[in-house]
Amino acid sequence: MPDPHLGEIVVSAEALRQRIAELGAQITADYVDRPPLLVGILKGAFMFMSDLSRAIDLQVEFDFMAVSSYGSATRSSGVVRIIKDLDLDLHDRHVLIVEDIVDSGLTQGYLRRTLMARDPASLEVCTLLLKEGLQKSDPDLKYVGFTIPPRFVIGYGLDVAERHRNLDHIVEYLP
Ligand code: 5GP
Repeated sequence: MPDPHLGEIVVSAEALRQRIAELGAQITADYVDRPPLLVGILKGAFMFMSDLSRAIDLQVEFDFMAVSSYGSATRSSGVVRIIKDLDLDLHDRHVLIVEDIVDSGLTQGYLRRTLMARDPASLEVCTLLLKEGLQKSDPDLKYVGFTIPPRFVIGYGLDVAERHRNLDHIVEYLP
């Protein structure tokens, strides 16, 4: 039986594949003489991190950080908590934050401030999705996969109450 909570497909599996290949090629060219340390933001970015890293033809390194900004609700609380911190030292590293989605921009702003304080050689953000027009301040995003309408989406790493992360595409969630 079809799930009544699943709405329109927002980004298909094929569109994800194509765009991630492009992002990987662009990152490979930009970082050719300084392989980056990829910092994946758990849990939502795990699938994007996996595919993006395979599209980058450099000896990248990996670390992960888990933050929480939502709890189980579908609206930003504005409070960002570190659930799991990085294992590696960022000093003098070229750090590329890999995010699933930027909505209000609060999480991204918090991560940037927190990681900049650790003295990296450079710090950029690659987000798979950017929601149109909801940012409270101008987010500083070097790489954006797709700009999407301001709807709640799930799939390809993104959940609602820990479910639907394993969909191979991004779909609107209807409450
Ligand atoms: P922001 O701080 O930019 O408002 O929110 C960023 C975080 O909120 C994301 O990393 C993600 O965990 C969550 N989030 C924002 N929009 C959505 C959405 O449409 N679907 C899901 N599943 N999570 C979202």
